[in-house]
Amino acid sequence: MTSTATIAHAPSYYAASANASSLRNALEGSVETDICIIGAGYTGLSAGLHLAEAGFKVVVLEQARVGWGASGRNGGQIVHSFSRDIDVIEASHGSNVAAAMARMMFEGAAIIRERVARYNIQCDLKDGGVYAATSRRKVSGLEEQKKLWEKWGHPGLQLITDKSALHKVVNSDRYEAILVDKTGGHFHPLNLCLGEAAALEQCGGTIYENCAALRIERGAKAIVHTANGRVTTKFVIVACNAYIGDLEPKLAAMSMPCGTQVVATEPLGVLGDTLIPSDFCVEDNNFLLDYFRLSQDKRMIYGGGVIYGARDPQHVESIIRPSMVKTFPQLSGAKIDFGWTGNFLLTLSRLPEVGRLSDNIFYSQGCSGHGITFTHLIGRLLAEVIQGQAERFSVFEALPHYPFPGGRLFRVPFTALGALWYDIRDRLGV
Ligand SMILES: Cc1cc2nc3c(=O)[nH]c(=O)nc-3n(C[C@H](O)[C@H](O)[C@H](O)COP(=O)(O)OP(=O)(O)OC[C@H]3O[C@@H](n4cnc5c(N)ncnc54)[C@H](O)[C@@H]3O)c2cc1C
Repeated sequence: MTSTATIAHAPSYYAASANASSLRNALEGSVETDICIIGAGYTGLSAGLHLAEAGFKVVVLEQARVGWGASGRNGGQIVHSFSRDIDVIEASHGSNVAAAMARMMFEGAAIIRERVARYNIQCDLKDGGVYAATSRRKVSGLEEQKKLWEKWGHPGLQLITDKSALHKVVNSDRYEAILVDKTGGHFHPLNLCLGEAAALEQCGGTIYENCAALRIERGAKAIVHTANGRVTTKFVIVACNAYIGDLEPKLAAMSMPCGTQVVATEPLGVLGDTLIPSDFCVEDNNFLLDYFRLSQDKRMIYGGGVIYGARDPQHVESIIRPSMVKTFPQLSGAKIDFGWTGNFLLTLSRLPEVGRLSDNIFYSQGCSGHGITFTHLIGRLLAEVIQGQAERFSVFEALPHYPFPGGRLFRVPFTALGALWYDIRDRLGV
């Protein structure tokens, strides 16, 4: 029998302010179940909770802690839709696919709100999100987004170009216009994970932490092997996203892990309220975007930057502080208490990769940076397909996917070069 040291959460503000949660045991010995889920981020927890609510026996294996991956370290911003908007999807996949996806694009946020209310999850959930344009050219992007979302039944968006009205929402001179969506919102991401994990256990599910899946043995009943145990199961869901490592090389080869960095300042008190008087979350619509919001204790949580290939940077503060101060010069003297990095999974199409490795092994990965709502939606769709209703799952399963040009060796420099081009355009405002 081997025992490995527990992998702790990244040293983030979220880990430092997490609700109490004891370390769960790793699996020892053999268990039999209906569903074995690998990965305790939002994808795995959302699927597990839907299935446990439907009466299935659910086992979750997590190599570190619940919410250790992107789900416990992200910007905490509820962003509807997908990492490609519906008009782009329509142009490349046709109007039927676009319509089917559009009908689901606001569902993820509703699932989150339903979970928080039903299970009384303490995660500081607040309503209100803002998309911001840093140049006149980018304002047209907001206008198009508004038209598109309204067309798909999402009213109530407000485009603000008047500077004094804009400053009452987000007090920065950086923006030419903002689009306000009161159905957006923000929350403490790790506490949402912990709450969903507790809900899953309340519904009869079992979670093992510090318990990596090492191998999946295919069969009419699959067997998932861990260091000291095995799970015999009718269905497997692989929900490892950017942290999949060598578990399933086919999935790892389909997309590219990317790092993005976040800082949390010291508590700002009244200054925080003057910077974001609305207390909404904000992201700009640049190719390499900035995203920020206030925490419950009035810290500025500011994220941005992309490291293709996902190396862990040494100095997160030096990456993020210049952008933060550009947005809010008032923060030039603010102390940064926490800086961390997390990995999301980028796909070439920017659309999620969803499918099956065999009849009873499913996967979902690659939300390409905007995954909070999609992961909650796909959890429901995974539960549907396992219960024999494949219609909505199939919409995503049918999306074609292609590897990044350059293979594993050159995909990072090729993609970084492409991104540099768009970044320069954004900086020049053209
Ligand atoms: C810094 C950052 C900021 C972001 N901000 C936002 C935002 O504001 N809004 C938004 O919509 N999206 C945001 N995202 C994206 C969003 O967080 C992700 O799309 C989403 O959390 C992915 O969830 P997941 O469950 O698929 O993957 P993850 O949360 O990464 O979970 C995967 C889990 O699988 C586990 N695992 C891997 N291999 C194994 C194995 N062999 N055995 C057992 N367990 C394993 C990992 O330990 C991990 O816990 C952000 C991402 C990052 C990194």
